Amino acid sequence: MSGILVVTEQHDGVWNKMSLETLAAGQQIGGSVSAAVLGQGVDALAKELAGFALDKVYAVSHDLLKGYTADGQTAAIEQLIKHVNPDLVLFPHTYEVRDFAPKLAARFGSVLISDVVGLRIEGGSPIFIRQLFQGKLNADVQATGPAPHFASMQAGAFRADSLKAGSATVEAFAPTLDAGKIRQKPEAPFRESARAVDLTAAELIVSVGRGIKEKDNIHIVEELAKVLGAELAASRPICDSGWLPMERQVGSSGQTVSPKVYMAVGISGAIQHLVGMKGAKTIVAINKDANAPIFEVADYGIVGDLFEVVPALIEEIKKAKA
Ligand SMILES: Cc1cc2nc3c(=O)[nH]c(=O)nc-3n(C[C@H](O)[C@H](O)[C@H](O)COP(=O)(O)OP(=O)(O)OC[C@H]3O[C@@H](n4cnc5c(N)ncnc54)[C@H](O)[C@@H]3O)c2cc1C
Repeated sequence: MSGILVVTEQHDGVWNKMSLETLAAGQQIGGSVSAAVLGQGVDALAKELAGFALDKVYAVSHDLLKGYTADGQTAAIEQLIKHVNPDLVLFPHTYEVRDFAPKLAARFGSVLISDVVGLRIEGGSPIFIRQLFQGKLNADVQATGPAPHFASMQAGAFRADSLKAGSATVEAFAPTLDAGKIRQKPEAPFRESARAVDLTAAELIVSVGRGIKEKDNIHIVEELAKVLGAELAASRPICDSGWLPMERQVGSSGQTVSPKVYMAVGISGAIQHLVGMKGAKTIVAINKDANAPIFEVADYGIVGDLFEVVPALIEEIKKAKA
């Protein structure tokens, strides 16, 4: 592996936070890692990137990169790749990347290994983990054929707070872009609909699953969340049943969270739930089935009946706080 180029994403000077997670993925693979930031006037952002353990930071600036267009982005990164000559190009798996990166990869006779949820190194090369059939299977994917190879990293799959600090040099790179060859007009970026509850900012989350049996029992975990000062979250069946509002759902079709502590109560640990919370620093699971998959990702596990364990926990926490 002679080099990795991480292409970050920013809007109006603000990072898409998946950019930093993707840098962490690059550092995890190791070897020579460089990063690029694109836009118009990106010096301040490039300087920020230079504070991480990277070989080089490329500040790619052009008036035509002020707003996102697939043609502009593709042309600029294509020229940068030809200049840097990396083996592997990593992207955050954002809406923009989904739009332009397959085309960019095709220009190099390659494909995009998209939506990567994890990786490991074998024989010095990265093996990327991707989900298939809506999360029912995990596939190992290895890039073959001539470099460069391309991969995009899913939100929450790598931890930005594991980034190693350092000091990199910044190189300005001015792509040659022709307005006549850009077929799109930048529009206002896609916005997720406003959420009444932002679980992504919560430091403590108590999450409840189907083990709670019925709506009238939810108050048990609600009280646990209250004594801990935690946000209440849930697996999908709980929200589908209307026992808690949809915005409290964690998982592939809910929110992706990365709190300091995530307490999973009566949750089996289906992959669609895990992808939304496995970025938590510490995972505590309470489940009566010792073989439940949630215990594979848990740092602390209690095998027991939640209707006994949770009230006992609440009592102990109250005593400790008194
Ligand atoms: C396209 C798609 C998207 C999806 N998106 C999401 C998503 O975003 N989020 C999500 O969560 N799911 C999602 N799912 C659903 C997912 O596959 C699982 O069905 C779901 O996560 C299971 O929820 P659960 O763990 O609460 O329930 P179950 O799988 O039924 O698990 C209940 C657990 O409670 C335990 N239990 C039972 N009684 C007790 C007790 N008294 N004390 C302690 N433990 C007990 C059981 O041992 C069991 O492990 C999605 C599925 C698909 C197909």
